[in-house]
Amino acid sequence: MKAHDGMYIDGAWRPAAGRDTIPVVNPADEQVIAEVPAGGAEDVDAAVRAARAALPAWAATAPAERAARIAALRDVLVARKDEIAETVTAELGAPLPFSQAVHAGVPILVAGSYAGLAASYAFEEKVGNSTVYAEPVGVVGAITPWNYPLHQIVAKVAPALAAGCTIVLKPAEDTPLTAQLFAEAVHEAGVPAGVFNLVTGLGPVAGQALAEHEGVDLVSFTGSTAVGRKIGATAGAAVKRVALELGGKSANVILPSADLAKAVGVGVANVMGNSGQTCSAWTRMLVHTSQYDEAVALAAEAAAKYGDRIGPLVNAEQHARVRGYIERGVAEGARLVAGGPEAPREQGYFVSPTVFADVTPEMTVAQEEIFGPVVSLIRYEDEDDALRIANGTVYGLAGAVWAGDEAEAVAFARRMDTGQVDINGGRFNPLAPFGGYKQSGVGRELGSHGLAEYLQTKSLQF
Ligand code: NAP
Ligand code: MG
Repeated sequence: MKAHDGMYIDGAWRPAAGRDTIPVVNPADEQVIAEVPAGGAEDVDAAVRAARAALPAWAATAPAERAARIAALRDVLVARKDEIAETVTAELGAPLPFSQAVHAGVPILVAGSYAGLAASYAFEEKVGNSTVYAEPVGVVGAITPWNYPLHQIVAKVAPALAAGCTIVLKPAEDTPLTAQLFAEAVHEAGVPAGVFNLVTGLGPVAGQALAEHEGVDLVSFTGSTAVGRKIGATAGAAVKRVALELGGKSANVILPSADLAKAVGVGVANVMGNSGQTCSAWTRMLVHTSQYDEAVALAAEAAAKYGDRIGPLVNAEQHARVRGYIERGVAEGARLVAGGPEAPREQGYFVSPTVFADVTPEMTVAQEEIFGPVVSLIRYEDEDDALRIANGTVYGLAGAVWAGDEAEAVAFARRMDTGQVDINGGRFNPLAPFGGYKQSGVGRELGSHGLAEYLQTKSLQF
């Protein structure tokens, strides 16, 4: 695979300060497909300086011109969508059709939405005798994970550009090629030099240097709760703004009046897509005791049908971790009805679509984020019991409710401690705010709520 031997800083590819590199591995066959430079504090510093130097001019650029650049960026992503999908498949392992539809398709939608919002957002409003301006927060340090490598970049960079911020991105070490491709797209779209900068590198080195840099005004992080907590503490100590998109353990609540077969089928597919590496996946399926056995049979069948269409996990560490969780589930008394801890292929980091029955709410597999193709079926006695179980984790990122009638599902969803709920299989909306309650995070991404994260307000009184 094509890779740049440098960092994209101040509008050009520049050699890294050091000589260290990161091998990029295809998780489907464990082969090294490229090397990228492992940046350090010096590279981060150069990138932050470039972003700071570019800030005044970009912040002063008319919203219509910022919108035009984001629209151009969207058009480049459209023109290069096959290359994007192939790159994501090569370094993340997602099956090509999923990469095309989701990994390339969703960022195009999101970039398009921010081209629209940059043009239409009210950056100025009158409140009594005041004029209130929404101004860019400044230089953004964006740190992203590998599971939706382009989406997570675009969900930060597009609103930051729309707001008039400049950016330094540190992408995940597992998926740097997608990030390099994105930097090329930004360049092609005519975004001025220094507005967007890319430093590839390791989290505890380049990521930490970025989070700690005093030239960064806002740290926007997506990833694990453990690292998010650390970044939040660093930002807090520096009185710096921070946005955290962290883990989840979302509940798929199937009320007795629901279409059970549909709810179970969509629920299993929701977890298996991207091999379970989705922070908002509905990894706990809550079923009324009267329908429990039928739901277990349906889920086992749906997982078995998924079979070979599932991609590998991203790396050897995740492979070992997820299989460890499955072993832990068995050890704690959950019943395997599909899949299991054995690797289904000799090569590649594959895990079979796995379904656990007889899971109780306190089991590890019902509490911790597994980040693999594993769904746990939990039984409930009545609605209050279902709500207690649904809300009974430290997370609150997403969820689903299914019922015969929409109002019944909505009433239940309103009692859930979570940021997003899909009602009877509601469709993805790129304008809907996405983010967590409780330890799933701080702040929102997407739509106008996502844009607001990159703005600060100034009021003038007359
Ligand atoms: P992670 O370590 O939190 O990675 C997220 C990003 O933060 C990566 O760019 C990472 O760099 C960087 N990073 C790591 N340590 C850092 C530090 N001390 N300071 C600044 N940046 C740092 O997540 P992971 O290791 O990829 O995955 C571990 C677990 O996190 C998964 O099993 C899953 O449960 C969870 N996860 C959640 C999400 C989500 O969307 N909520 C996404 C991915 C993972 P490196 O790539 O070099 O590590
Ligand atoms: Mg990590």
